[in-house]
Amino acid sequence: METKYIFVTGGVVSSLGKGIISASLACLLKARGYRVTIQKFDPYINIDPGTLNPYEHGECYVTNDGHEADLDLGHYERFTNVPTSRANNVTTGRIYQSVIDKERRGDYLGKTVQIIPHITDEIKRNVKLLGKTGDYDFVITEIGGTVGDIESLPFLESVRQLRWELGFDSLCIHLTYVPYLKAAKELKTKPTQHSVKQLQQLGIQPDVLVLRTERDIPATMRRKIAQFCNVAPDAVVQSIDCPSIYEVPIMMHNQHLDEIVLKKMAVTPEGEPDMTRWLHFLDKLNSAEKEVTIGLVGKYVELQDAYKSINEALFQAATYCDRRLNLKYIHSEKLNDTNVDDLMKNLDGVIIAPGFGQRGIEGKFTALKWCREHDVPTFGICLGMQCMVIEFARNVLGYADANSTEMDPTTAHNVIDLMEEQKSVSNMGGTMRLGAYDCTLLPDSQAAEAYGKTHIKERHRHRFEFNNDYRDEFEKAGMRCVGQNDATHLVEVVELPDKRWWVGTQYHPEYNSTVLTPNPLFMSFIKAAIAYGEEK
Ligand code: GLN
Repeated sequence: METKYIFVTGGVVSSLGKGIISASLACLLKARGYRVTIQKFDPYINIDPGTLNPYEHGECYVTNDGHEADLDLGHYERFTNVPTSRANNVTTGRIYQSVIDKERRGDYLGKTVQIIPHITDEIKRNVKLLGKTGDYDFVITEIGGTVGDIESLPFLESVRQLRWELGFDSLCIHLTYVPYLKAAKELKTKPTQHSVKQLQQLGIQPDVLVLRTERDIPATMRRKIAQFCNVAPDAVVQSIDCPSIYEVPIMMHNQHLDEIVLKKMAVTPEGEPDMTRWLHFLDKLNSAEKEVTIGLVGKYVELQDAYKSINEALFQAATYCDRRLNLKYIHSEKLNDTNVDDLMKNLDGVIIAPGFGQRGIEGKFTALKWCREHDVPTFGICLGMQCMVIEFARNVLGYADANSTEMDPTTAHNVIDLMEEQKSVSNMGGTMRLGAYDCTLLPDSQAAEAYGKTHIKERHRHRFEFNNDYRDEFEKAGMRCVGQNDATHLVEVVELPDKRWWVGTQYHPEYNSTVLTPNPLFMSFIKAAIAYGEEK
């Protein structure tokens, strides 16, 4: 079968969940046996979101091949179990950089370089890149931003051209919002009509409309929208708020989204998608009665998306352990010796979050000391692991000034230090230790038991590392370095074996946790938290 291209655009407002809809459709197509990948095209000028702070852009996701990516790629992987790569996330910045490089090389042979055709051609080339590998039956392309934005125009123009060139091998799904006006007690379709008009003005006729809504949209209203927007009535589906994003694929399938999409692309749907394992997960989700209470100590607690992958990994693990996840965010800047007891005493387990910079760091040490002394299952991730090491150095080894050189470049006890390879780095973008690296675990470690093996590969995003000069001292005092990269001897996992569950990972296991394959370390952590909760 020729590779088919599905474009997903959004209108009316942002944050409608285009990523979830794209991922849900991919999930259904994959469950029908097709090979699917999803890519995100973001209209901003940054080369990648790696230099954006979480207030701007939520979490920065990391692919196996070391690309700092939009957090929607995390949804794609969680819903499809298919790894993404650098090719799955392209920004305006990347497109312009490549066009400008070509211009400097002289590739345009004296022509004036313009948005149309040069930028649009480069966008089109990137859209088709994954399709050309022959590895996929469907390539779903999510266009970031909202129709009507100035930045989106070259992307939408490229979609228009591709629709024209590809015919039945392509399709456009437009996601809009149908607001409910409380005072009028009415759902309103006008914003949707206007948004589709805007798309039509750009020469794109959507084939399918997905309407985000908080209330059920009556069939008559959907027919009216179909009529106004030149869309077949059965191709107007609603995406109503639901308790979990993982219900969305089922909700879409119940309205035949997968079938409609296939038929419109001249593919005859055969049978039904095999969602057995997915439904098993949802069954567990809906039947769980008991809770597991986890505290997440970090400095971005007011931001829903800052720790997206950690939330999802915890949620998946809790669900598989038949528990509802009760996640409590604890602001590391507000945590101190006087309130730590109150804030932590009801938790079954604690996560110390990743991060950068000094802000909120002391609160993480306070939390860690309390958790260590009260023997609460504790999981440190990246900066969280580094904090575990620093707290241990300060309070057990007795180095009051122990620190990471990230926080205190002049500390005499630099138990966490800049990686050798980082010392010559001056640019900030894309220069960290990024992507999946091998890690060898000691056979008798908590981590090896969790993974059920001693050789693993997990994804990284950091500049600083455990300082191996202190390794013996830590080991003698009871903190074991149980995981390392054999090629570089970088310490990847530390543990306190005399505690219930005390594991710190320099890597980010949360990037590697999906609905169908939850991350083993998160599973092990949640199990330990449940056991501790019951013991309490
Ligand atoms: N700031 C730390 C480092 O660069 C940790 C990074 C992180 O938590 N992702 O090493």
